[in-house]
Amino acid sequence: MSDSIFTQIINGDIPSEFIYEDEHCVVINDINPQAPVHALVIPRKAITMLVDASDEDQALLGHLMLVASRVAKDLGVAEGFRVVVNNGESVGMTIYHLHLHVMGGRTYAEQDMG
Ligand code: 5GP
Repeated sequence: MSDSIFTQIINGDIPSEFIYEDEHCVVINDINPQAPVHALVIPRKAITMLVDASDEDQALLGHLMLVASRVAKDLGVAEGFRVVVNNGESVGMTIYHLHLHVMGGRTYAEQDMG
């Protein structure tokens, strides 16, 4: 199977600005933001989706949540933001490489669940 868009971004095959990166993950701005702040926390490890994560990924999954928090602080939305993980086509997942959406910058009532 060919690399996902996110693997190509992580590898530098598709140029993209990393707003944060470390040895475990990168963070980019979503190309089609659904909120004033909409970042994607993407593990370097190409886990297809959350149901494919296993016990060995426990520390990585925790790390991704902490990076989501850090990015929310860095982007000025720590007082109110959402972290969303889509799992599967039926809920609109389009890129089959696990990622966390970090969305903030407007009130909860104004945000759709997409
Ligand atoms: P999903 O629906 O799979 O949970 O979310 C995939 C997200 O990736 C979408 O919000 C979409 O806008 C974003 N996206 C798709 N292609 C690209 C791209 O090439 N660059 C960036 N920065 N975001 C992308």
